Amino acid sequence: MEAELGARKRIGLVAHDNKKPDLIAWARFNLGLLAAHDLVATGTTGTLLEEELDVPVQKLRSGPLGGDQQLGALIADGEIDFLVFFWDPLEPQPHDPDVKALLRLAVVWNIPVACNRATADFMISSPLMTSDYERQLPDYRSYVDRPLASNGEPGRSARTT
Ligand code: PGA
Repeated sequence: MEAELGARKRIGLVAHDNKKPDLIAWARFNLGLLAAHDLVATGTTGTLLEEELDVPVQKLRSGPLGGDQQLGALIADGEIDFLVFFWDPLEPQPHDPDVKALLRLAVVWNIPVACNRATADFMISSPLMTSDYERQLPDYRSYVDRPLASNGEPGRSARTT
């Protein structure tokens, strides 16, 4: 299975406070490229991007107030194609579990993730950013259909939907 991505990608953007200047500088440098895509960001990151660069951004809640989880849910629903997440390696965050969860979901759903400027530079300049791309979707059927032995019913499927 794969997800068909068009030339216009949906890019998720998040930066921890100490990394916001980095993200703004990166976005300013790549503004021409970013303008061709739809941008979704956690609250404060999104507000800064709008104010500093005058680009339209769909803003979620602030990261520590649920924004990271909202972004994770969008990834799980196939609504985000590409994640730029400048997390701070030198400072614990009050929402560290949410940070880990967001990074985890990006891996679960095979979403490209840039966690620093160099990676973001390589990714944004990839020819795949401006062309169609078939993103492989991992096959989780065996996980979803795994037999459960709870409540004395060995072999019952775990499928919930
Ligand atoms: P913020 O959230 O953009 O609202 O600051 C970022 C984060 O996850 O810390």
